[in-house]
Amino acid sequence: MKINIVGAGISGLVAAIQLEKAGFKPHIFETSTAAGGRVKTEVDQGIAYDHGFQVLLEAYPLAQKYLDYPALELQAFFPGALVFKDNKRYTFGDPLRHPGFLWPIMTNPLATLSDKIKVFLLSQRLKKTPISEIFKLKEQSTLSYLQEKGFSSKIIEHFFRPFFSGIFLETSLETSSRMFEFVFKMFAEGKASVPKRGIQAISQQLLEQLKQTKIHYNTSVQKVDDKGIHVEGLPLIESDYTIIATQAAQLVSGLKSQETTWKSCHCFYFEVPEKQIKNSIIGLVPGGKLINNLHLVQPIEKSKTNILSVTVVEAKGLSEKALLQEVIEELQTIIGPGEYTLKKHFHIPKALPHLTNIQYEIDASETQLTESIFLAGDLLLNGSLNAAMRSGELAAEAVMSKIDSNM
Ligand SMILES: Cc1cc2nc3c(=O)[nH]c(=O)nc-3n(C[C@H](O)[C@H](O)[C@H](O)COP(=O)(O)OP(=O)(O)OC[C@H]3O[C@@H](n4cnc5c(N)ncnc54)[C@H](O)[C@@H]3O)c2cc1C
Repeated sequence: MKINIVGAGISGLVAAIQLEKAGFKPHIFETSTAAGGRVKTEVDQGIAYDHGFQVLLEAYPLAQKYLDYPALELQAFFPGALVFKDNKRYTFGDPLRHPGFLWPIMTNPLATLSDKIKVFLLSQRLKKTPISEIFKLKEQSTLSYLQEKGFSSKIIEHFFRPFFSGIFLETSLETSSRMFEFVFKMFAEGKASVPKRGIQAISQQLLEQLKQTKIHYNTSVQKVDDKGIHVEGLPLIESDYTIIATQAAQLVSGLKSQETTWKSCHCFYFEVPEKQIKNSIIGLVPGGKLINNLHLVQPIEKSKTNILSVTVVEAKGLSEKALLQEVIEELQTIIGPGEYTLKKHFHIPKALPHLTNIQYEIDASETQLTESIFLAGDLLLNGSLNAAMRSGELAAEAVMSKIDSNM
């Protein structure tokens, strides 16, 4: 059987792992020079610079299935956030998991007592709610969901909006309430972490599980049809089955109208002379001019260098130069005057897909596009590592059941 996969992102790698388990030897065609797709890290002088701040939520069921957490040497964030407001800092978080948060949360004036009780009750309820139930919820925007649940505008503006804008990569909180409940549940049940060597360690670990798969890097697929894969300058690469583990609209004729639109972000890394924020806590800037969140990057080995990661979700049409200038000015107001030396800047134009019908699970057969073409990728379900893994698994399952039914 010739099974070809387009894309060596998380979904393509998981599809290959599943196919290998069933005895197949798939080929992956990847346009870039490495596996991982949107999960990308640049290591420079002992610092892992991720292309965009992302975290692994350890409670993700699929991550638990495919990843070896101890080998990733996960660096967990505190279960909460530090909010920068009018030259003061306030704490939000889960005092059950970090008792040190109890007093700062009790005395935090950026939420009412009723908000604090509601957050606690929401987290207790979601811990008990199966994921499948969450994804049966009627979809509404996260903002209207929070308002409907009676949260005050204080907590929405000072905590929920900045925290979830950084996760959804949009500031209006128009993302589906299903995604909100799912992410909230994952945060309530487990830690949010980054591997010691950066987020790409996740795809590296998946890659290392592949023993029978051949990956063709620097190979950009131009078209996929039922005969196979078309790559410029090469004869047709025949396929019995093809899994497209990336956006298919540009590859399969007739799908142009289904092209995905994307949410973007900017991620800056600055070297700072002193630690102005504690290790392992995510800083939020409610109502920030540009900055959404920031945190100190843990160096791979012990180091005196302090690197601050800063995420901008809405660049407001500024040029890169003006954006940098304004981000530094904002840092000086929020964190304090000082030298902020730019180390890296990544603009990720296609970070998360804009999806209107968020799902956790679909039937494997729904990944089948034509007789021989199958789809994978987070955009099939929802924008997360968990969804990317599940979509790869589903596409592989669908290919294998198609093979069985043809025998
Ligand atoms: C800034 C940022 C923050 C994020 N934050 C989080 C987070 O905190 N938690 C979380 O769970 N998820 C987060 N995500 C989402 C998560 O990274 C993605 O859901 C996941 O990596 C998607 O994997 P994928 O395999 O579906 O797609 P991709 O990673 O996009 O993989 C597709 C692959 O296909 C290749 N390709 C594309 N076209 C072709 C072609 N024509 N020929 C050959 N190869 C091709 C690409 O090069 C790529 O390698 C974040 C993503 C970004 C970018």
